[in-house]
Amino acid sequence: MARIYDSRKRILVTGGAGFLGSHLIDKLLSQGHEIICVDNLFTGTKRNIDHLHNHPRFEFMRHDVCFPLYVEVDEIYNLACPASPIHYQHDPVQTTKTSVHGAINMLGLAKRLKCKIMQASTSEVYGDPVVHPQTEAYWGNVNPIGPRSCYDEGKRCAETLFFDYHRQHSVAIKVARIFNTYGPRMHLRDGRVVSNFISQALAGEDITLYGDGSQTRSFCYVDDLIEAFVRLMDTDATVTGPINLGNPVEYTMVELAEAVLEITGSRSKLVRQPLPADDPTRRRPDISLAKEILKWEPKVKLGDGLIKTTEYFNSLI
Ligand code: NAD
Ligand code: UDP
Ligand code: UDP
Repeated sequence: MARIYDSRKRILVTGGAGFLGSHLIDKLLSQGHEIICVDNLFTGTKRNIDHLHNHPRFEFMRHDVCFPLYVEVDEIYNLACPASPIHYQHDPVQTTKTSVHGAINMLGLAKRLKCKIMQASTSEVYGDPVVHPQTEAYWGNVNPIGPRSCYDEGKRCAETLFFDYHRQHSVAIKVARIFNTYGPRMHLRDGRVVSNFISQALAGEDITLYGDGSQTRSFCYVDDLIEAFVRLMDTDATVTGPINLGNPVEYTMVELAEAVLEITGSRSKLVRQPLPADDPTRRRPDISLAKEILKWEPKVKLGDGLIKTTEYFNSLI
């Protein structure tokens, strides 16, 4: 596309009013690009992009990616999809539609425009993994008919579509498998563990530990992840992914709860609640590929990231 300024790109971010999307947009604007933010505001909020209201290089379009979209852009980041279990299980059929129809429409757009497209895939494609830590070569252990399946299988099918559009139509794809990420602009009560624990600690409520709290996750601070997104998009056409993006430091949920209690200075008590169905027992990314190809690894330590997230939640309360 002919542009006035060579280095300035017009970039589409779907799901741009969400947690990750709004941070990505801030980063891309700071690099001088023009942004079209597409979002149906299902789980996203205008508050996340309020500060961009009068920005000359920012445009918001309220649109559902399940329907065709005709815009002219140089790059696409496809993030539209509810991400927290409470949100994606609220309307599971819509979740699968968003992943699958959304991927088809955005891939159709990328095919017509001959532009690069990045997919926000997920560590959930590994399900409850029997290989630990998870490498990209692992095919996963996913229940196709459980309550998490709308999300897990929707994202797996989206990956299939990305690779078929790549093989069949030569679309330049980048598939990022994102592991648990946290930070400011997470929804306060979206049911995810970091937001739950911090908001419960700040309110002096009980900290809800599902199961015995021995299950593990690896938490990446949002700024680290966004840096990896941009590096991945900037790779040449030979790099398609899938590529794991996340922080390889693994914590049990008990350890996370203790870290939150220490940072918030809260006297909340830990209480046990039943473990949700199909809750993965452990999860940690092998990020060797990201280190090698993107020259990237997370820098922000859990304690520092939790402090910033707590400050944000405090500002909301
Ligand atoms: P989020 O819920 O904050 O953001 C998702 C955004 O997509 C919201 O603004 C929502 O309104 C929008 N959206 C949902 N359905 C849509 C539709 N049909 N059309 C248009 N917009 C729609 O979640 P997030 O944490 O920012 O996640 C962003 C992406 O990253 C998602 O695709 C998610 O699956 C993926 N991801 C996130 C994590 C994480 O830990 N945050 C981990 C793995 C993958
Ligand atoms: N599409 C879109 N914007 C475009 C081009 C295509 O939303 O600029 C949608 C289109 O509606 C179609 C989907 O993307 O349903 C897949 O497009 P593709 O060209 O692969 O399929 P076809 O149109 O041949 O079915
Ligand atoms: N979890 C918990 N208490 C909560 C919310 C979640 O113990 O209030 C646990 C949950 O069972 C899971 C882990 O924390 O084992 C991460 O849950 P989250 O929903 O944040 O992400 P995901 O399961 O999708 O990785």
